[in-house]
Amino acid sequence: MNKLLIVGTVAFDAIETPFGKTDKILGGAATYIGISASFFNVQSAIVSVVGDDFPQEYLDLLTDRKIDISGIEVVKGGKTFFWSGLYHNDLNSRDTLITELNVLADFQPKVPQDYKNAEIVMLGNLHPLVQSSVLDQMETKPKLVVLDTMNFWMDCALPELLAIIKRVDVITINDEEARQLSGEYSLVKAAAKIHKMGPKYVVIKKGEHGALLFHGEEIFFAPALPLEEVFDPTGAGDTFAGGFSGFITQSENVSFDNMKNAIIHGSNLASFSVEKFGTERMLDLDKEEVVSRLKQFKSLTQFEIEL
Ligand code: AMP
Repeated sequence: MNKLLIVGTVAFDAIETPFGKTDKILGGAATYIGISASFFNVQSAIVSVVGDDFPQEYLDLLTDRKIDISGIEVVKGGKTFFWSGLYHNDLNSRDTLITELNVLADFQPKVPQDYKNAEIVMLGNLHPLVQSSVLDQMETKPKLVVLDTMNFWMDCALPELLAIIKRVDVITINDEEARQLSGEYSLVKAAAKIHKMGPKYVVIKKGEHGALLFHGEEIFFAPALPLEEVFDPTGAGDTFAGGFSGFITQSENVSFDNMKNAIIHGSNLASFSVEKFGTERMLDLDKEEVVSRLKQFKSLTQFEIEL
């Protein structure tokens, strides 16, 4: 079985949407990525940090999914990363209310020995210096390095972020962040500028409007599945990244054509994630539901046209 190394926050989130509000619940980029990737036949491990205020039952949820958590450091007397967000009525835009780095502020990641030869590395959202340090610790060159990031790091650690972007093969980023990073409004121009920063593949996520994959002159588009109800978009981007990297790891094929399938898998899993608050829907999801929705995706996008 191929190995997927995941880096990212493991966090407490407090979320408010037009449909309700939560207290501190399980969140974090690596949490969503790990749960999403666990739907594939891969061995995965998370590198992250939490405080000793983080409940054991949350860590157990990860180990129940066969995710190796030996790279999640628990800091004695430390407080876990905390994020709070407020969604607007259309659910496509949100305001970050609070970002408390806490134990993340001076985290020195340690990649588990068994994962220093992982085939695929998914650098999920967290400090770009932590992402770089993880890449430095790899003993064999990964087949593919994927990076996800957020406007927060563009605002407070841009030089470090640009340095890690230079080292990755794929970047996944949302439309607003692609515009901020490139200074271009057109997503085609934004992708071209981001290509020049390093990544050969640029994935731009557009929420309920799907995702675009750019590779040189080639472009592929995957829609998001039209859903009757969206409850909480938190973690949709990370769930997408987990589906994308999980599928690539399982298939061990890093071609553009296979990335098209990976984007469909990512979009498919993300469509479940938004149906309930936090990780709730992903935790009660079964593989049959995943396959059945993939069939819906296929019929949504397939057509015969004579040219
Ligand atoms: P998404 O909705 O896919 O952008 O991801 C939301 C998740 O990212 C939440 O569970 C947060 O805990 C986590 N998060 C929010 N801000 C940051 C940040 N600056 N760095 C890393 N993770 C973050």
